[in-house]
Amino acid sequence: MKVLKFGGTSVGTPQRMKDVAALITADGQPKVVVLSAMSGTTNTLVEISDYLYKKNPEGAYSLINQLEQKYLGHVAELYSTDEWRGRTTTFLQEEFNYLRSFTKGLFTSFEEKVILAQGEIISTNMVTNYLLESGVNAILLSALDMIRTDKNAEPDFNYIRECTVAQLTANPGYQIYITQGFICRNAYGEIDNLLRGGSDYTACLIGAAIEAEEIQIWTDIDGMHNNDPRVVEHTVPVRQLYFEEAAELAYFGAKILHPTCIQPAKFAGVPVRLLNTLAPQAPGTIINNEMQRGTIKAVAAKDNITCIGIQSSRMLLAHGFLRKVFEIFETYKTSIDMICTSEVGVSVTIDNTTNLRAIKDELKKYGTVSVEHDMCIVCVVGDLATQNVGFETRACNALQEIPVRMISYGGSNHNISFLVKAADKQRTLQALSKTLFNA
Ligand code: ADP
Ligand code: ASP
Ligand code: MG
Repeated sequence: MKVLKFGGTSVGTPQRMKDVAALITADGQPKVVVLSAMSGTTNTLVEISDYLYKKNPEGAYSLINQLEQKYLGHVAELYSTDEWRGRTTTFLQEEFNYLRSFTKGLFTSFEEKVILAQGEIISTNMVTNYLLESGVNAILLSALDMIRTDKNAEPDFNYIRECTVAQLTANPGYQIYITQGFICRNAYGEIDNLLRGGSDYTACLIGAAIEAEEIQIWTDIDGMHNNDPRVVEHTVPVRQLYFEEAAELAYFGAKILHPTCIQPAKFAGVPVRLLNTLAPQAPGTIINNEMQRGTIKAVAAKDNITCIGIQSSRMLLAHGFLRKVFEIFETYKTSIDMICTSEVGVSVTIDNTTNLRAIKDELKKYGTVSVEHDMCIVCVVGDLATQNVGFETRACNALQEIPVRMISYGGSNHNISFLVKAADKQRTLQALSKTLFNA
């Protein structure tokens, strides 16, 4: 069975929902279909929560009402019978009354997560109702019964596999199994989510759990491009990526994929195909276990990076220094992306600055600490194994005019990363496209 995920734009209007329905039913094969919220909805739900955190129920109320009107407006366009218009209207009214109920009483991150979950709950119900109205043998399975995270907020893979298989086995014979992306339960059974963009992760977790034939991520662009199309002109799709290459690109900022969604697919050996709902015949990108030798595939950039430098004359030949430094980051649950060391200092980058002040204070015991904000990691991905002479030189040559704060090469065979100022991001990406891809 295949697992197909459709992102926010792919279900962004009633017409797009109809197109998705046509796409998933065309070949008559059974499949699992993971849906995001309609585009813009999760952002609105975040904004509603923000008003509630700020104890402004009127602000939240007005956004909920606007969103409700928008959704009720979709009903007439999506359904052709009074029966399904009526059923969906009732469902939507219940949903929006539920959202309004949060404007009274205590508001914490628990309530916020419940609010954020409603976007996917609404879109999946709307599409399932449309399929049922069209006579398709479809069923909606709740992701809250299949996807769970553990105490470290990481997907609990054994639980996910058991529950997903159990849900599918308990409901045999359907052509289309619809479920929500993004939403899950946490280790305490509360409603939670897999972070923004997390529907890709859901699809890959389900695909790995059922050892799917293929996981397809349907979005609004023809596959993974060789550079960020929002920043650089003349980018082109990359037709094939090795799992590791895709994982690095996703982690280092290629927004088309959730940062960690490739891991489960890689472990289960399930290929991932990136496809375009706006051009379903376009070939897209296949991500699989094949490594193409001798090519640089793509460039990506990760924003909001902070660089921390620790200089210490005492570090000279001191064993245990790096352990002490890393222990501090571990204590404050802050992961490090890039590291560069010399005999007298070490520089690391982080993207989560929640505990920066405490980390800085502790690091001061071991050396002189400097912090640089507004940095950006630019990552070049491809066959960058040591024996491939000259590839890293080409990447470095592209950056002749740009002040580079850190370079990381040799951590894997697939990546060379540069730390530059956020203000230099665009010209860095452009320079790399020009040199590496003649764009
Ligand atoms: P969805 O809502 O379907 O999950 P996203 O907006 O999360 O879609 O991801 C698709 C977008 O990712 C594209 O529209 C594109 O602007 C952006 N993007 C960023 N980097 C890349 C890249 N290297 N290749 C393709 N798309 C990219
Ligand atoms: N709806 C969620 C978001 O906007 C998840 C997703 O679309 O992948 O982040
Ligand atoms: Mg996305």
